[in-house]
Amino acid sequence: MSNPSDTIFSKIIRREIPADIVYEDNLALAFRDIHPQAPVHILVIPKEPIACLADAESQNHALMGHLLLTVKRVAEQVGLQNGYRVVINNGQDGGQTVNHLHLHILGGRAMQWPPG
Ligand code: 5GP
Repeated sequence: MSNPSDTIFSKIIRREIPADIVYEDNLALAFRDIHPQAPVHILVIPKEPIACLADAESQNHALMGHLLLTVKRVAEQVGLQNGYRVVINNGQDGGQTVNHLHLHILGGRAMQWPPG
């Protein structure tokens, strides 16, 4: 996998490329996906460049919980009171295309199951 400090998401964190940022704190950033798959499609990422879920370590325990609580906070902030889906694509078979851990928030319509 490529260095997670070199991905497009690290460039967004460093404000080297623009993004529609909806939430930020000292540990996490949330911004709208550039190719939305639902009326609301937001990515929540850690500022720490962890490549994927499989690379998270026990030392990231608090951060991982923070990311989930950030999902909840952002979903409330953007008005997803009817519910939403949270997706983490991990690795090649998981369909991950950006090697910086990210949680997709998908909402604004009823989701299908199972996903493809
Ligand atoms: P993955 O397929 O790795 O789970 O998700 C990566 C997501 O990042 C995709 O949904 C893709 O549309 C989004 N994405 C890729 N490049 C950019 C970008 O430059 N800006 C934003 N906002 N989203 C991006």
